[in-house]
Amino acid sequence: MAQSTVSAPVAPALGSDAPLPVRAVLPWAVFVGLLMVVALYFVGAEQGATAVFAGEGVHEWVHDGRHLLGFPCH
Ligand SMILES: [Zn+2]
Repeated sequence: MAQSTVSAPVAPALGSDAPLPVRAVLPWAVFVGLLMVVALYFVGAEQGATAVFAGEGVHEWVHDGRHLLGFPCH
């Protein structure tokens, strides 16, 4: 019987002090930052002249968040 040479990958130990490389984190930080800016736009400015979508659907959907964050509304 032949011995298998395949070994299971070794997971890094939890609690490791190895720092995360900035090059690995930066694209995700930029992506999440853009998502946050888009979400902030739809909560705070998606109404009237600045509306991207016609109608009140998006505005009504985020209406409670708009008041919670203190954006002017009605
Ligand atoms: Zn309102």
